[in-house]
Parts: sequence; C-alpha cells; structure tokens
Amino acid sequence: LVVIDRVGKSFGRVEVLKDVSLTVAAGDVLSLIGPSGSGKTTLLRCVNYLESYERGLITIAGESVGVDIRPDGSRRRKADREIAALRAQVGMVFQHYNLFPHLDVLENLTVAPRRVRNEADAPVRERAMALLERVGLADKRNRYPSELSGGQQQRVAIARALTMQPRLLLLDEVTSALDPELVGEVLDVILSLAGDGITMMIVTHEMAFAREVSTSVAFMADGVLIEKGPPGAIFDAPRHERLCSFMQRYR
Ligand code: ATP
Repeated sequence: LVVIDRVGKSFGRVEVLKDVSLTVAAGDVLSLIGPSGSGKTTLLRCVNYLESYERGLITIAGESVGVDIRPDGSRRRKADREIAALRAQVGMVFQHYNLFPHLDVLENLTVAPRRVRNEADAPVRERAMALLERVGLADKRNRYPSELSGGQQQRVAIARALTMQPRLLLLDEVTSALDPELVGEVLDVILSLAGDGITMMIVTHEMAFAREVSTSVAFMADGVLIEKGPPGAIFDAPRHERLCSFMQRYR
C-alpha cells in the first residue's frame, strides 16, 4: 500500500531523512521507533505530505505523494486539490489531539465528511456513532472536548480520523501527552483497530506496545533507517549495534 523509496529531506542544511526506504502492505501495522530527533515524525508527516521531501518518492496505492516526477527526473509539486484528496485518504492523529473546541464530540466526527465530501447528514451521523461505540465513548457524544479527559479526547481524535474511512492511519506519539493511567485505554483502542486489519504507521516510545501491536518495526537513528523486521527479531535479536544499545535502555 505504501512505498517509501529512497526518501530524503533536509531542514535548511540539516539532513533529517537520508535515503529512507520502507514498504507497508495493506493490513500491516508498522511502528517507527528510535531516539528523539531521529526523523520518525518527519517521515510520518511526509507520508501525507504535511512535510515536503526533496529526494526519492512516496507512493500510496501506486499514486505519488505530493509530487510528480517528470520523465527528465525533475519534480513538480502536485496541485493543492490533489494533495487534499490524498489527505482525505490518510488519517492522522497527533500527540495533541487537536479537536475542535467549539464543536461537541459528535460534531467533531461529522464535520469533515460533511464539509469535505458533502456527505448527507444521516449516514455520516450513523457512521460517527458506530465509531464512538467502537472507542467506548458513545455516551459522550454531546460533550465538548474540554469536558473530557486526555485519554477520552485522544480516543475521539482516533474516531474522528476514521470517519473519513482512510486507507491508512498515521499515529504520531498519540500517548505522549497523556497521564500514565490514561495511556492504556488509548493503546487498547489502537490494538483493536489493528485486529480489524486497519493499516497503520505508528511513531511510538511505548516499546511493549510496539511489540504487541506491530507486524513490523523499523528503527531509525540520525535520519537513517537502520533495521526493520518483525517485532520478535527487532526486540529479541537486534543486529545493529545502535539498535542493541537503544534496546538496552528499555530493559
Ligand atoms: P521525537 O521522538 O523527539 O519526536 P523524531 O524522531 O520524531 O523525534 P523528528 O521530529 O522527525 O524526530 O525530527 C528530526 C530532526 O528534524 C530533528 O533534528 C529536529 O530538530 C528537526 N526538525 C523537525 N522539524 C523541523 C522543522 N520544522 N524545522 C527545522 N528542523 C526540524
């Protein structure tokens, strides 16, 4: 579904992604792990073109993300309309939930399908209610974000991303801002989505969770993808020295 082919990106003179290649098949859950500043979040943001990239190419279901490559190898940024169409297919949830504070929970879920896709009210509400059931928050549908705990807000944010029925869900450190006792409820929701075969790319510092939820795990350091494999191989038999020392800190 997702092919990341030799992608490179710099912020000014700092190269934050160096020749990163990675594939994610439909139904896969890929976790990106690695030290702070290694480029995990930047890579995730390139996948839905919240960040541009200067080298290499990302494709989703065969469609290039953000840029077209001309036959002579030069790059052309796609039209905003095309980029918006891509983003409608790729849900993203952030560390800070970014819910709309002036809308209640149900409206947070229904606003994008109604405004972006002009979908009719009734089916969108029905889908939104089913998703709220799914994350255990149907009874909070008329609450405002400020009336919910951080864990509940994050579960609403996940449900909201799913109302657009994305092909792919990107999760960027979705538990990092939560009090420890609220982390579990959010991870449980993600685990159950993985069980349903939703394709995900997850940036996380929760190693036990990454191990449990992932079909594959990729370790990054200094903008380089160092090692990728099934969770058993990455956690129990790391090969690269950088990964070994990273793992030692989590034991
Ligand atoms: P963390 O686990 O701390 O979130 P990360 O692995 O996700 O780290 P990134 O957030 O992708 O790392 O950052 C990679 C590098 O790019 C860092 O050195 C960071 O300082 C730099 N960086 C990220 N965003 C920007 C930006 N908008 N402008 C300049 N530099 C940036």
